[in-house]
Amino acid sequence: MLWYPYTQMKHVDRVPKMVAGNGVMMELEDGRKLIDGISSWWSVIHGYNHPALNAALAEQAGKFAHVMLGGLTHEPALQLAEALVRITPAGLNHVFFSDSGSIGVEVALKTAIQYWKNLGYDGKTKIISLKNGYHGDTFKAMEVSDDSDFSRAFADVLHRGYVLEIPGGGFDAPAETVQPAIDDLEQLLISHNQNIAAFIVEPIVQCAGGFHIYSPLYLKAARELCDKYHVLLVFDEVATGFGRTGKLFAAEHAGVTPDIMVVGKALTAGYMGHAATLSTDAVYNSFLGADYEKALMHGPTFMANALACTVALKSIEIFDQEDYLSNIEQINNIIEQEFSTINSPLTAGKRTIGAIGVIEFKDADTLNGFKLFAMDEGVWLRPIGKVLYLMPPYIIKPDELVSIINVMRKWIDRAG
Ligand SMILES: *Cc1c(COP(=O)(O)O)cnc(C)c1O
Repeated sequence: MLWYPYTQMKHVDRVPKMVAGNGVMMELEDGRKLIDGISSWWSVIHGYNHPALNAALAEQAGKFAHVMLGGLTHEPALQLAEALVRITPAGLNHVFFSDSGSIGVEVALKTAIQYWKNLGYDGKTKIISLKNGYHGDTFKAMEVSDDSDFSRAFADVLHRGYVLEIPGGGFDAPAETVQPAIDDLEQLLISHNQNIAAFIVEPIVQCAGGFHIYSPLYLKAARELCDKYHVLLVFDEVATGFGRTGKLFAAEHAGVTPDIMVVGKALTAGYMGHAATLSTDAVYNSFLGADYEKALMHGPTFMANALACTVALKSIEIFDQEDYLSNIEQINNIIEQEFSTINSPLTAGKRTIGAIGVIEFKDADTLNGFKLFAMDEGVWLRPIGKVLYLMPPYIIKPDELVSIINVMRKWIDRAG
């Protein structure tokens, strides 16, 4: 029997079965058609069953679907590495592939820790992370994620590093609101930089940990402070990458290049699991040398899978051709406009950035039953805790977007 994720199986009776997908629509076995409001965990940016992605995959499958990257290489991998270097912030020149966002984060943290070892420093092994962060479900990723339902059962075996609060005030927070969080970071770096390898953040938007948005000023300062106190800065753009926050990568809001950056989720447009961990020359160069010991000892079986690389390349091409950044701006305008008319004593806040819309409730119980209600209304949304959020495919049409938000509105009207 199938075991579902994040699910108390005792309460699983009938999980809806999807039988077809087309554009933003998901078709269920019982005939219902749902507009996907969350892009299948934020990955299906071009919608389902995209003809150009399908064709690219079929063509590559006709050559070979996969070949090990140990000792061999292939064109889709080389081209995707080149494309990622081109589109990510300047200076990230080296690409290590893996099969999921969590593993991409593991690679980033291994790279950061080994960087210092390779340079001859001992004991620079701890990681700073942010409260409410989420970086995946593997062990080291859990260690740098906030203590939450995701990791509670393993609290006893996690070796946590240092945890800081994000600055308040949202994206547009004034400098004086951001400064206390910057001061906390500097204090921590002053007192403990000898044992810290890296600072990992989800830049601008923390997603699974509650959709908190913070100022780019913090990232600018983090860049300067990490340089000053010799700590690597790692951006986990698994959720924010590929346009979600209104820029191709969230790092661009701050105009900084991290030492290491992870992308995943939308990388392959939701067709299959894959991730990439990018590093600067300085990081990469520390792994060069006569000793085999200095090499990066990681190599997932399916890294740089040829189908994954092919679909990712085609996805990046479509993203460019279709001028998605303008779509995303339009999506943002509509979300802002529609959210401005939702005012309820049940809500604790509303936030939007790029193609993300978030309504936070005072009480998580207000969302009990929402998912089933939305399905009956023809919409697929899945709240996280107190948060009802929207992260649609970038091809969504204005009327489809409005109808999703109307379902949110209807629920809120009924509940309160
Ligand atoms: C989803 C997510 C991950 C984990 O990616 P998986 O592919 O699910 O392993 C890591 N970091 C962030 C920011 C994520 O949103």
